[in-house]
Amino acid sequence: MCGIVAYLGHREAYPILINGLRRLEYRGYDSAGVALINGHDLRIFKCKGKVSDLEAHVQDGNVKGTVGIGHTRWATHGPPNDVNAHPHQGNSGDLALIHNGIIENYAPLKEELIHRGHSFKSDTDTEVLVHLIEDIQFTEKVDLAEAVRLALDSVVGAYAIVVIDRKEPDVMVAARKSSPLVIGIGEQGEHFLASDATPIVEHTKNVVYLEDGEIAVIDRQKGLKIRNIKNQDKTPFIQELEMHLEALEKGGYEHFMLKEIHEQPRSIRDSLRGRMDLINSEVVLGGIRDHEQKFQNAKRILILGCGTSWHAGLVGEYLFEDLARIPVEVEYASEFRYRNPIVGEEDIVIAISQSGETADTLAAIELAKSRGATIIGICNVVGSSIARVTHAGSYTHAGPEIGVASTKAFTAQVTVLTLMALMIGRRKGTISASNFHRLINELDAIPDKVQKVLQSEAQIKYIADIYKDAPNALYLGRGYSFPVALEGALKLKEISYIHAEGYPAAEMKHGPIALIDEAMPVFVVATKGASYEKVVSNIQEVKARKGKIIAIVTEGDTVVKELADHVIEIPETPDQLVPLLSVIPFQLISYHIAVMLGRNVDQPRNLAKSVTVE
Ligand code: GLU
Repeated sequence: MCGIVAYLGHREAYPILINGLRRLEYRGYDSAGVALINGHDLRIFKCKGKVSDLEAHVQDGNVKGTVGIGHTRWATHGPPNDVNAHPHQGNSGDLALIHNGIIENYAPLKEELIHRGHSFKSDTDTEVLVHLIEDIQFTEKVDLAEAVRLALDSVVGAYAIVVIDRKEPDVMVAARKSSPLVIGIGEQGEHFLASDATPIVEHTKNVVYLEDGEIAVIDRQKGLKIRNIKNQDKTPFIQELEMHLEALEKGGYEHFMLKEIHEQPRSIRDSLRGRMDLINSEVVLGGIRDHEQKFQNAKRILILGCGTSWHAGLVGEYLFEDLARIPVEVEYASEFRYRNPIVGEEDIVIAISQSGETADTLAAIELAKSRGATIIGICNVVGSSIARVTHAGSYTHAGPEIGVASTKAFTAQVTVLTLMALMIGRRKGTISASNFHRLINELDAIPDKVQKVLQSEAQIKYIADIYKDAPNALYLGRGYSFPVALEGALKLKEISYIHAEGYPAAEMKHGPIALIDEAMPVFVVATKGASYEKVVSNIQEVKARKGKIIAIVTEGDTVVKELADHVIEIPETPDQLVPLLSVIPFQLISYHIAVMLGRNVDQPRNLAKSVTVE
């Protein structure tokens, strides 16, 4: 989610680190920092803000040293401020560590370390790692590399880390699991490390992509050695980089939006990380634990959002009513605040915003708060305004979203809402133990199923080519898939500028059916489930008027295949989880149509990523 860069070689590290951090800023940032070793002297500079703020902060500081690590942070635990910025240090101040990812079991580890005499300065999960490594160095009397290996054995979560130790100034240790890390091998013993190849490509084209569970030890004398967590040696596989810088920033994808669509197996996994216990059949969202009672007694839940977040809220409505049996109203934040709404102490208000800065949502929150409601935030940006003004909340952990049209933020919001509804439903007893167990296991399987849906991209592109010149499009769905129809239509409007409408499939006959003729593409979610037969009837109605049907169906479906012009299959999953899969083909259709029409996909006209005006 953030950016890591590190250097060990014969040159001054600082300029290389700063340049590298600048290259990584596209990944998102809220603070930045560097650590440098010069002789046996270790210096750290870090602060809230951009890389340019870090440079200003360093000013005339002593930034000498040929070993160094640098970090741009995208906060997951603890607000973006100077103290929470990386690098982090242990008790002795000998070590400096940077981390990209989430340590799921940081709370019990931290408790134990405090018990053993460690004192913590930050609110981050990361700081636990450096204390743990230091503790092992002392108790086991091992070198840095071995301490890192032993420490990681007791860590659950996702990480790419780099650690340096002023006691071993010619060594740098790095490791990864689920977060990326690339090692560049330069000339005369130079080594570069980074989250992706963008900071490396200007120095060398020879890289090693570290694999999950591998630890890299870079030693000024001995060069690069790789071992795994079980202490088995690995032979580094050196590849030659062929990509240009711009392509590298987008992970090889043509646009950020496409990259973000493809990131969804990972981003959904990160939203789930540490929040489900499949063995003990539990869901724990730490952020709302203190408000569980309030949730259980709530007479009503109000969900506030704008645009895509409002659509995620609609999925939330179905989830909470279905699983937790609490009545829900979903409101456009902008409408809510101007109509003297009835809201009070017995209400729970869930405010959803990717950026956490949406002006309408912020104002609606203030209003609901002033009337005594409990406000729960669902935001992607840690420490954002909404995250700060709400009473509690859960972050989506989707990582920075750069494409203006929201994709991975939507699926992350729906993931968090699903977890919330499951958690509250289970506590309230409105969902049986067996159904709960089934649903959390199905939810755990969603990232892999999203990956499978993404494999249909070539077919989706083919369909996009057929319908790219349509002036209008209709999107239909029922139940859990109705909000997906709305979201599908919004995506098409936003980036291709084609007029599109989303409707509950059964509503079609009350008006929009008049629009249907042979030129009208109708996108329908027709997956197996509660309203399958009814949707099949709606498809018949469209066909009778010569409309073109593009249907999203459950794998192996034969009925809709007979009727539809095109079908896109998605893996089977319970109704409650279908939105997480069925939205993916809609995102891809919009993307490919927009590209074919030559639109500016990442920055569509008239739109802004974070809407901070009313
Ligand atoms: N979880 C860490 C933090 O909140 C690292 C976040 C990142 O990947 O930037 O500081």
